Amino acid sequence: MTAGLSPGRIVVVGAGQAGVQTAEALRAGGFAGELLLLGDEPHAPYHRPPLSKAWLAGEVEAAQLVMRAPEALARKQIELRTGVQVEAIDRPAKEIVLAGGERLGYTGLVLATGARARRLPLDQADAPNVHVLRTRDEASALAAALAEGGPLVVIGGGFIGLEVAATARKKGVEVTVLEALPRLLARVLPPLLSAWFEALHRSHGVQLRTGVQVEALEAGADGRVKAVRLAGGERLPCGAVLLGVGAQANDELARASGLACERGIVVDACGRTADPAIVAAGDCTARRLPDGSLLRLESVQGASEGGKAAAAALLGQDKPFTATPWFWSDQHGRKLQMAGLATGATQSVLRGDTAAASFSVWHYAGDRLIAVDTVDEPRTHLLARKLLDAGVWPAPAQAADAGFETASLLAR
Ligand SMILES: Cc1cc2nc3c(=O)[nH]c(=O)nc-3n(C[C@H](O)[C@H](O)[C@H](O)COP(=O)(O)OP(=O)(O)OC[C@H]3O[C@@H](n4cnc5c(N)ncnc54)[C@H](O)[C@@H]3O)c2cc1C
Repeated sequence: MTAGLSPGRIVVVGAGQAGVQTAEALRAGGFAGELLLLGDEPHAPYHRPPLSKAWLAGEVEAAQLVMRAPEALARKQIELRTGVQVEAIDRPAKEIVLAGGERLGYTGLVLATGARARRLPLDQADAPNVHVLRTRDEASALAAALAEGGPLVVIGGGFIGLEVAATARKKGVEVTVLEALPRLLARVLPPLLSAWFEALHRSHGVQLRTGVQVEALEAGADGRVKAVRLAGGERLPCGAVLLGVGAQANDELARASGLACERGIVVDACGRTADPAIVAAGDCTARRLPDGSLLRLESVQGASEGGKAAAAALLGQDKPFTATPWFWSDQHGRKLQMAGLATGATQSVLRGDTAAASFSVWHYAGDRLIAVDTVDEPRTHLLARKLLDAGVWPAPAQAADAGFETASLLAR
């Protein structure tokens, strides 16, 4: 589709980070037709990252969660409809079908359906005091559970589980984190940083159990889970459970309409699907890389940059999202920022001292820099993104030398 096809109607399914970004980028890019933003949640678009941090801690008001007020969207002639579930895509007719049967035609369709929290195939996983955390309503339910006092058992030592554990401690709630792998955040961080996070959580009173398997959730007569049982028989009494076992792409709509899906809607770097009228962006996607592998990002940056690329693609332009991925996490007042993806690193080099107020870890595949993790060093994080984007980097020995000016590499 080109801007010349306007006025047509572009429908954006999903009113989260990616949906809002795509809609706004369509307007900014000159799309003059009808623009509908449909979301199944009852709220106007809001920020998810605070749900496990400041919002859960009760430190921000609802107004501060809002990403875009309906009026701000209306000023851009973006029609927001909340509480609307899209149930099917009729690709031959170029129509979507809403719950209730209403059909809406489109000239362009954006799938920005995000992801949902994974559940565990355990009996009682749907008990009222077993929580997941993806939406604002789920966060409110979890906040109410924390207010009841716990103890809280968190199943899964990933970012969301650990952020919730940190927030719960702040609220004075007793917390145990259960992780099946031998260390925390094992899929995304090197052992050195896992060990640092373990020490951080322990120092704040979080009980950590790694290398453990959950065998059962034991419910009482009232249907609430009273204890989590581990393989081997140990029982951990609890007032509430959080399942922090990852997210699953909402790709069913796309799949049912015949679009390729593999752990997400398969797109190219511009967000294109095999259907020229349909693009996708954000947590619902899996991007096909030049080597044939698939990249799934679940991040604010992935959603917003993917959204911009997808909007451009619908307007007939190539603006691939190939920038260095980045992410952050806040736990116990410390900020981790990640630039690049450390998967495949053969060497990780510490710059500074993990006992200091800030430090960084530089990851290399062979002698190529692939990622930099920083703790409380926002400037190094920004520099690392620039270095990775520019394809220049310090040698591992230079990275390890705190006296070496890494910024000087960019000036060359
Ligand atoms: C608790 C939490 C903390 C996070 N912290 C960070 C962080 O610190 N840093 C970071 O970078 N990222 C963080 N993230 C991830 C980040 O929030 C997501 O990557 C981002 O929100 C993805 O945006 P999205 O628009 O792709 O998906 P979503 O935000 O999930 O939006 C998709 C929307 O589409 C709706 N939808 C789905 N199907 C339909 C349908 N059929 N019809 C209508 N609507 C539909 C969904 O209900 C949802 O509202 C966090 C996420 C969570 C849950």
